[in-house]
Amino acid sequence: MPGDAALHCHVSHPIQRSLHDPDFAGLQRILEAEGVNPSHARALWGALHREGALDLASRSFLPPLQRWVERSVGEGKAFFLDAPEVIEEIRSDDELTRKFLLRLRDGQTIETVLMGYAGRHTVCVSTQAGCAMGCVFCATGQMGFVRHLRPGEIVAQVLHARRVLQTVAPGRRLRNLVLMGMGEPLHNYESVMQALSSISNPGGISIGPARIAISTVGVIPGILRLAEERQPYKLAVSLHGSTDEERSALVPVGERWPLPDLIEACRQYGKITEKRIFFEWTLIDGKNDSPETAARLAKLLTNINAHINLIPLNPTGGYTGEESDAGTGRQFQHILQASGFPCTFRQRRGIDVAAGCGMLKAERGTKRQV
Ligand code: SF4
Repeated sequence: MPGDAALHCHVSHPIQRSLHDPDFAGLQRILEAEGVNPSHARALWGALHREGALDLASRSFLPPLQRWVERSVGEGKAFFLDAPEVIEEIRSDDELTRKFLLRLRDGQTIETVLMGYAGRHTVCVSTQAGCAMGCVFCATGQMGFVRHLRPGEIVAQVLHARRVLQTVAPGRRLRNLVLMGMGEPLHNYESVMQALSSISNPGGISIGPARIAISTVGVIPGILRLAEERQPYKLAVSLHGSTDEERSALVPVGERWPLPDLIEACRQYGKITEKRIFFEWTLIDGKNDSPETAARLAKLLTNINAHINLIPLNPTGGYTGEESDAGTGRQFQHILQASGFPCTFRQRRGIDVAAGCGMLKAERGTKRQV
């Protein structure tokens, strides 16, 4: 019926795709498939990634691209831009750390953190809504897994943080990225790699690969794949335990990927890439902070080019473990340093803004609407 047809032209395009999902080569392919010369991809990429446009309606491009944008990009059309809605922004007392609770198109909420210290700015992004890994001390782990993020949803977090940085500290560049927010990056490998290809592209956001750190809880196939593909990013592995028993009590995936196998995978990674690996260790009183544990850890990491980061425990509602006291932490550090490993305490940034991943979302509740 004619009336039905008129109705349908106002209904959303059946398959909408994000223009922030593809990397540069993918964007060229999209334009080509849409009948637009792929040489126009550079201008489109610049608007999306270098300028961080929130919509393209007010932009002017050369006529063939302009016509395609008008026809195909926008709500209800074939393509959309990822521009998550900011539900909440909270700041640390010193204003250097800002945490954002962002709502995605399907209503899922994720967290992104912009951290500034000593003139450097780092953004910490989420790679999944929720997480399947279930680490007992982590608010996100306590929520469970909801879904993987698309590449565009990862890129859009960096764009948002950069936009905020340009407002609060004009002229400052966002130089560092860590994948330590909600989710396990290597559980969402393809999307993460595609997003990082976009984020490190020199014609766009341009964060150098050596300034991008992927943090994993120890997903062995992902670690080996990073090595085989010679991915240029930094690797951080969360250990938290020096025996399978100690580790699995904190990180349940330790049962699936036992510690000796994980260390062997790290050894291989180091051998293939010749890169240093950062090992993350959350110090928990009476659980993994004894001198014996430190000595065992040093032995475990023999012949690995390792840097150990000691992390203070962020209190979460559902976990009763407590942070190690300062003296115990320092002793732990000294044992590792005496064994020849660089070992540093990660600065606690903005505990007053619920800085542990998933804590803001957990505090606000997942169904909050504003
Ligand atoms: S610490 Fe990381 S891997 Fe573990 S549950 Fe939390 S988000 Fe997932």
